[in-house]
Amino acid sequence: MPRRCNSTRPAPSPRRGATLIAPMHPCLTCGACCAYFRVSFHWSEADPEQGGQVPIELTEPLRVHERVMRGTSATKPRCIALDADIGRYSRCTIHDRRPSVCAAVPASLEFGERSAQCDKSRLAHGLPLLLESDWVGVAEAERNPLP
Ligand code: SF4
Ligand code: SF4
Repeated sequence: MPRRCNSTRPAPSPRRGATLIAPMHPCLTCGACCAYFRVSFHWSEADPEQGGQVPIELTEPLRVHERVMRGTSATKPRCIALDADIGRYSRCTIHDRRPSVCAAVPASLEFGERSAQCDKSRLAHGLPLLLESDWVGVAEAERNPLP
């Protein structure tokens, strides 16, 4: 599945001395794409001997050269690594070791373009599509850098 799920990322650090709380990255209150797509990737990403970092115990075999995140091959997909109340709170428990396909999914308008994957996921979970206004005040540093 072509996807670049960045749905979950570390919570931003509190700013010392700040009197206002900066707006949160929209993915931190979403998680919809981690509970919509099948998350498959090349097996080597879960093989430490090949430099892979994805925890293999959270994956299962798919096709000859692919593995898949557990839970995402189901009729109602939900990644085993997702800690979320979709639409309210969302974190990836393996954020630093998530598959490359996850890091490759932009949130809509995060970098100026709409993301079909983001829009499709949010609609499927009954969430409104992201708007430019959702990004106002979200620090550049909190946006997901392209790999
Ligand atoms: S659906 Fe969009 S906003 Fe929601 S977690 Fe995924 S990329 Fe982020
Ligand atoms: S590994 Fe993390 S980012 Fe990827 S689908 Fe699972 S919870 Fe989402």
